[in-house]
Amino acid sequence: MSMIKLDFSEQVIWITGASRGIGRAAALLFAQANANLVLCSRSIESLTQLREEVLAISGLEPLCLAYDVADLKAVKSTGQQILAKFKRLDVLVNNAGILQDALLGMISEPQLFQTLNVNLAAVIEHMQIASRLMQRHKKGSIINVSSIIGRVGNVGQVVYGASKAGVIGATLSAAKELAPSNIRVNAIAPGFIDTEMARSISPEKFQERLNSIKMGRIGDPQEVAGVVLFLASSLSSYVTGQVIGVDGGMLI
Ligand code: NAP
Repeated sequence: MSMIKLDFSEQVIWITGASRGIGRAAALLFAQANANLVLCSRSIESLTQLREEVLAISGLEPLCLAYDVADLKAVKSTGQQILAKFKRLDVLVNNAGILQDALLGMISEPQLFQTLNVNLAAVIEHMQIASRLMQRHKKGSIINVSSIIGRVGNVGQVVYGASKAGVIGATLSAAKELAPSNIRVNAIAPGFIDTEMARSISPEKFQERLNSIKMGRIGDPQEVAGVVLFLASSLSSYVTGQVIGVDGGMLI
């Protein structure tokens, strides 16, 4: 039986929200597949340990950049730095996101706009900058991390759900626009994954969410990272405009 080994040698992968959770797990998997990595979060310190781990795994120095994804000028300048260092971009993983629950009537203006800016506007701006870089080689894969909440909604998550449904809408339109350039755009809709974000909710809600998972357990960030790598690789070369649930059967 032949073994398939994913290899991203010579490829450049831009990951937002790489400092922990799903983004960090994806970075470590890509490192095992010899990728050149651009790792981003809001502070360089939060990326220091990951940088060491990546270097130990692949021997390749990642480009670590600190910026707020909602700062559109910083996104543009990151694109310029990627071009200057690597001269190419193959994969964008739009993963950074925030979760702030509030019931209708209790949603503050800063919360509304911060969530929409970080979870949605930033995803669109990253796609703009990344697709321009990918056009140079007429090849690329963009992976947007949405959420099961963007598909089915949840109490207290009107803003988060809107931002994540927006990510799905943006994914579908971008997939149509970019397909002729051989740039694929897909979304992942994780269910309940064991990260700081999932642990930030109350114990009662945590148990309630666990109870809704048919597989009976919370997901591991690596289980989302595996799907990210699939969508980034040539194994999915004919897959675009899809939303892939990674939720242990929460939706069935
Ligand atoms: P997490 O553990 O809270 O990590 C979030 C990441 O995003 C961190 O690396 C954080 O970096 C970065 N980030 C947050 N705000 C940022 C900003 N304004 N600018 C730049 N970076 C920022 O979350 P996670 O669970 O891994 O979530 C990753 C993605 O999956 C998110 O889009 C989330 O909505 C989605 N998701 C998660 C679950 C789940 O159950 N965990 C379910 C569905 C969807 P710093 O704080 O270091 O800057």
